[in-house]
Parts: sequence; C-alpha cells; structure tokens
Amino acid sequence: MERTFLMIKPDAVQRNLIGEVVSRIENKGLKLVAAKLFQANEELAKEHYSEHVEKPFFNGLVDFITSGPVFAMVVEGNNVVEVTRTLVGETNPAKAAPGTIRGDYGVDLGRNIIHGSDSNESAKREIGLWFNDAELNDYKLNNEAWVYEK
Ligand code: GDP
Ligand code: MG
Repeated sequence: MERTFLMIKPDAVQRNLIGEVVSRIENKGLKLVAAKLFQANEELAKEHYSEHVEKPFFNGLVDFITSGPVFAMVVEGNNVVEVTRTLVGETNPAKAAPGTIRGDYGVDLGRNIIHGSDSNESAKREIGLWFNDAELNDYKLNNEAWVYEK
C-alpha cells in the first residue's frame, strides 16, 4: 500500500466543497490516514511548490494557497498516486474530464480545487512537509478484501 498527499485548496474550502471531495475519495475505496483544516504560511507554501519557483504564476500560487485554510489529507491505497491523480483530473479544469474533481467543480487554472502528489517520491516529501508522524493513523479498514483483489 502506498500513501499520497491531497489538499483541498482554499477555493474549494470557501465553496463548501470539502464534503463533496472527501466523499469521492471515500467512495473510491481509499483510506484516509490523516486530515486537517489548516492555513499554511508562506514558507510552507513556497516549499510545497518549490519545483515551480521560476514559473510566472509562482507568487500568485503562493498567495492563493496561503489565502485561507486548506483541507490537507494523507490517503492510502494500492497504486494510490495514479488512482488519485485520475480522480483529480487534468491541471486545467477547463480541460479536465467530467467526472473528475477538477472537471466537475473548477473552471480556471488558478482555482483548480485540489492538489494531489504526482509520484511516490513527491508524496513522501509532501506528507513530511504537512504532517508529523503522530498525525498519521495506522489502522485497517475492514472492507479491504472488497476493494482489492489481493
Ligand atoms: P498539478 O500537479 O496538476 O497541480 O499541476 P502543476 O504541478 O503543473 O502546477 C501546480 C499548480 O500551479 C496547479 O495545480 C495550479 O494551481 C497552478 N498552475 C499551474 N500552471 C498554472 C498557470 O499557468 N497559471 C496559473 N495561474 N496557475 C497555474
Ligand atoms: Mg504538480
């Protein structure tokens, strides 16, 4: 089982979409390992998005992410990075397929509802940035045999 980092961004928090988005993750069969409503400071936001530091949208992105609370999550499952990137949809909500979170709830690139780690390596780094070990819950879901073949 792998873990990934998902973050419902300030736009979706303001639009009362936390429940809708978390439902999709639960309904998929994935397991929540950690979750918190949390307002990031500039330092954390810059570190989280450090790969984009040279991009023209970087400052706007940091301002946006720190503008209000986000709902940060760690989610576990088989192949969870690929599974959640598919649930999340393409970066640009205008192009994201209907049925995906971004495709169903977003319009603009700079207001795209949710972040999801793009690799196991990024997931590990991002989980470490946003959560400490004591916040990560190790437990078994009884439905696992009904979600996974093995
Ligand atoms: P992601 O992994 O699908 O979230 O996409 P990226 O890693 O490429 O970009 C990170 C985030 O930066 C995206 O989710 C958007 O919020 C934002 N972003 C990316 N490209 C643009 C852009 O061209 N303009 C603006 N305003 N924001 C962007
Ligand atoms: Mg990315």
